[in-house]
Amino acid sequence: MGGFVIVGAGEAGTRAAFALRETGYDKPIKLIGAETHLPYERPPLSKPYNGAVAMKAICSAEALLNAGITYLPAVEVAELDVAGQAVILSDGQSLAYDKLLLTTGGRPRKLSCPGAGRALEFRTYDDAKIILDSVNASRSVAIIGGGLIGMELAAMLRGKGLIVSIVEAAPKPLGRAVPSRFAAKMHTRHVDEGVNFHLGVGISEIRDNTVLLTNGAEVPADVVVAAVGVQPEISLAEKAGLATGNGVLTNPFLQTSDRHIFAAGDCAAVEQHGGGHVRFESWRNARSQAQTAARNMAGANEAFSAIPWFWTDQYDLGLQVAGLPQPHHQSVVRALPTGEMEFYLDEGTLVAAAGLGIGNSVAKDIKLSEMLIAAAVSPDPAALADAGVNLKTLLKSAKAA
Ligand SMILES: Cc1cc2nc3c(=O)[nH]c(=O)nc-3n(C[C@H](O)[C@H](O)[C@H](O)COP(=O)(O)OP(=O)(O)OC[C@H]3O[C@@H](n4cnc5c(N)ncnc54)[C@H](O)[C@@H]3O)c2cc1C
Repeated sequence: MGGFVIVGAGEAGTRAAFALRETGYDKPIKLIGAETHLPYERPPLSKPYNGAVAMKAICSAEALLNAGITYLPAVEVAELDVAGQAVILSDGQSLAYDKLLLTTGGRPRKLSCPGAGRALEFRTYDDAKIILDSVNASRSVAIIGGGLIGMELAAMLRGKGLIVSIVEAAPKPLGRAVPSRFAAKMHTRHVDEGVNFHLGVGISEIRDNTVLLTNGAEVPADVVVAAVGVQPEISLAEKAGLATGNGVLTNPFLQTSDRHIFAAGDCAAVEQHGGGHVRFESWRNARSQAQTAARNMAGANEAFSAIPWFWTDQYDLGLQVAGLPQPHHQSVVRALPTGEMEFYLDEGTLVAAAGLGIGNSVAKDIKLSEMLIAAAVSPDPAALADAGVNLKTLLKSAKAA
């Protein structure tokens, strides 16, 4: 028998390998990764670190060895043989599996305008190195896309004194994932830091040293970086005939349409209680889905139910969002000494919370908010708005009730 095989050695794949050992699973585990490095974390790639690219390993080679995890770097899985329960590697090797986990993550969306090939991508450590090496010899950078990655990169590059422009097709930056109150505050901060925004406009052409916009404007750009979102890496699953959509489709137990194959992290679109499938692109989601998938592969039957959470750091600001804030939710704002919290109520029930402050200052309030959300409390909005009311007290009274 082949043991368990994991395809993709990013956050989800690597955490799942260790989580499998924590369940007591003692048969072979093979972790296959297309990249050449030891598994590493992506979030530090777009956060400033003494002007250099930060490489934060998820684990050491020794830890992999001690856990009996066979790590195969720099090799791609080229094909899944679902009927034969085997993966075929790009070097021709075939590896049998009892159960398989797909943690293939995502790949950057590509631009399609003339000159698109001049734009650099930003997903991997190697991409980050190329961007930083390129800007070291440059004066100006245009970032196409004002989402989380584009805005983090802008903050990092302003810190290096470059002329930074962001071109965004939507009327506002950060429109997709960040609640509008905090998206506006972060936008203002970028403007104050000197980032040039071109909003509600597309790209006509990327030329040497300029980007030509659809409104005729020319943006100076010795370097152009495309940060226009991520597509789930589902090509293996598609070719193998597994159910796919905006991701590899799984049931709530992270099991795909083949009962021997599971999926987790950025590539997985998970069936929801109320119907439909949802895919998240966040670090914690990758970790927690990996842990649930590992336990289920080892025999548990646990529905994935973690509250979505992500963070972003830009300049000295830290934003954290727990749950899924929606425009129709009732918003309640609480002022903090160095920032603000916003709570989101759906028909009186707390369903999400976001906080923006200096550094990590909102972390404790967000953690307590997550507990309040999990307890499905219906707090008095006046108490939520009052910074004098400790969230711990609300949690205690919710638990007592
Ligand atoms: C620059 C950057 C900054 C980020 N910052 C934040 C942040 O501040 N907060 C936050 O919450 N999230 C952040 N994220 C998102 C977070 O890093 C991802 O959600 C997380 O890494 C997803 O983990 P994953 O394991 O699902 O996918 P990935 O980390 O993408 O790993 C997938 C791996 O699978 C490999 N692979 C794919 N196909 C194959 C194949 N056929 N054979 C072998 N290997 C294969 C890929 O090469 C890759 O190494 C950031 C992401 C980036 C890129």
